[in-house]
Amino acid sequence: MNNTLNEHFDRKVRPCIDLIDSLRSLGVEQDLALPAIAVIGDQSSGKSSVLEALSGVALPRGNGLHCDKMSLELKMKKKKDRGKWCGKITYKDLDGEEEIKDQADVETKIREAQNYLAGDGLDISEDLITLEIASPNVPDLTLIDLPGIARVAVEGQRQDIGETIKRLISKYITKQETIILVVVPCNVDIATTEALKMAQEVDPKGERTLGILTKPDLVDKGTEETVVNIARNGFTHLKKGFMIVRCRGQQEIIDNMSLLQAKEREEDFFRTHQFFHTLFEDDLATVPKLAEKLTLELVHHIENSLPRLQKMIEEKLAQTHVELERYGTGPSTDPEERNVFLIEKVVAFIHDVQSLTTGDEMKSGDKLNVCSPLRTEFEKWETDLDSSGKKFNEKIQREKEIYENMYRGKELPGFIDYKTFEAIVKDQIKQLEEPAINTLRNAGDSIKKVFLQLAQCSFAGFPNLLRIAKSHIELLGQNMETIAEAMLRTQFKMEMVVFTQDKTYRKILKPEYDRHIENKWFRNIMDHNTFIRELLLHITTYYQIASQRLADQIPIVIRYQMLQELASELQKHMLQILQEKDQIESLLKEDQTLARKELICKVVTNVSQRLE
Ligand code: GDP
Ligand code: MG
Repeated sequence: MNNTLNEHFDRKVRPCIDLIDSLRSLGVEQDLALPAIAVIGDQSSGKSSVLEALSGVALPRGNGLHCDKMSLELKMKKKKDRGKWCGKITYKDLDGEEEIKDQADVETKIREAQNYLAGDGLDISEDLITLEIASPNVPDLTLIDLPGIARVAVEGQRQDIGETIKRLISKYITKQETIILVVVPCNVDIATTEALKMAQEVDPKGERTLGILTKPDLVDKGTEETVVNIARNGFTHLKKGFMIVRCRGQQEIIDNMSLLQAKEREEDFFRTHQFFHTLFEDDLATVPKLAEKLTLELVHHIENSLPRLQKMIEEKLAQTHVELERYGTGPSTDPEERNVFLIEKVVAFIHDVQSLTTGDEMKSGDKLNVCSPLRTEFEKWETDLDSSGKKFNEKIQREKEIYENMYRGKELPGFIDYKTFEAIVKDQIKQLEEPAINTLRNAGDSIKKVFLQLAQCSFAGFPNLLRIAKSHIELLGQNMETIAEAMLRTQFKMEMVVFTQDKTYRKILKPEYDRHIENKWFRNIMDHNTFIRELLLHITTYYQIASQRLADQIPIVIRYQMLQELASELQKHMLQILQEKDQIESLLKEDQTLARKELICKVVTNVSQRLE
């Protein structure tokens, strides 16, 4: 690099790259899209070769299929001092990261990772392998080598493999923060390259796409002018333009040509080439020039993205502040005060648990309310009762012959046997048992949900405390539900005793009788089937009484056991945790993500100030 570039690098590039690195190391990638360079190209277009030439380490390449199953992220860091080369590899499931001591091992390590993640299958994997290398001889760049775009599936691959790869590539290149490197070999018709098409779809104006022409040594004789034209942006116009590079061919790899030799050979090639020497003279050729260009482009890109990045971070920051506020000023470091802080937190929670059951005002999470979800459940239960009664009656009317055969004994028409009535009524009530248990489950879930939300609000920022409260709620909730279920089951056993006060029965029987008489269908049936008429009259009468009883009884059990008792047990259990003095520190352990977010804010503000 010449001096002006060096200066520019130190003043502008370093802080940008440091910024992105700090953000990455803080794990911001999940929250914010960070600038990156993605390398895309059709299969065997030379992607890996370019990456290899840029990084100076041999990467798995060759038969195309096997190496291109997953993406490789190549993080390169330029060491200022003349330090030793060092590398490490990370991927999902690998515990931490594995150090690579020798450059020569990189290829094997990557292959191991690929085999581990994808096995012998030929399918494309979404996993990402990250290779980090630091050396004085690499540019400060992070590149992602994406699987090559395959046009046809080979044996053993799914037919839609092409689509899968494209989807994976799209995921990276649609992000506005990504610079797209499109690798196109000189010896194919550029108009037909799928990679360029994909880039144009997501970046129609060519603002963040850079073309790389490879394999200039394989160019078809006579088409050199065309290639020069493309390289000079004459074919498709890309704002970032094209670069042309020459990497090692298969034979040269077999012949063990080193990357250093390849670099010298590349320069010779362009310098002396009858057509391409002009590109060389205009700094459009060779890998080192490409590295320079990429670094500058990345810095440019980061600079341009900074306002947006900052805006996103500010939004996150605002969200974080809301969270921070919720968790208050945080505990002090003094042990005595910490104890008081914990007591206050727990007591406030207990207070709010009480308020939930009574509907009083709360200290935190003030919009929470159990009454309304419960009311919804209980209304539904009442509707269930009505519709079950109706359905049962309709069934009797529809299947009157069956009923008559089944239940009528020796009596003449018009008589009804009390046992028959009892049997049918029991049958009808039995059918309410499962819906009642369902009501319990749903109501119980709603109550637990509200309690969990309350815990979430009350203990925001203290993951251990929150976890304990949540596990109490879950566990006690389950216990209470078991008890309540037993109570409900007993209620239904009791309902098998068909009973009500005479007065109550008479009170309902009379209007039921009048109603039945008005019913046209009923009058009609009276002529033929007095048994069913009488039966229905009594059944509907009793069902009304029993269902009124159950309409109240089930909700009362639920309210008592799932709300009152759960609340009071929860309060006891939460008070108990205050007894465990040695637990205070662990309970007050603060949420790392909050601290992390604060740190991110600091880093970004700091760096963006330096850039201004
Ligand atoms: P990828 O599938 O896009 O990653 O492509 P690779 O980097 O694996 O390259 C495919 C083949 O093209 C390999 O055999 C490389 O040696 C060869 N290759 C790459 N670049 C050049 C080049 O500039 N000239 C020649 N002759 N061959 C090259
Ligand atoms: Mg490759």
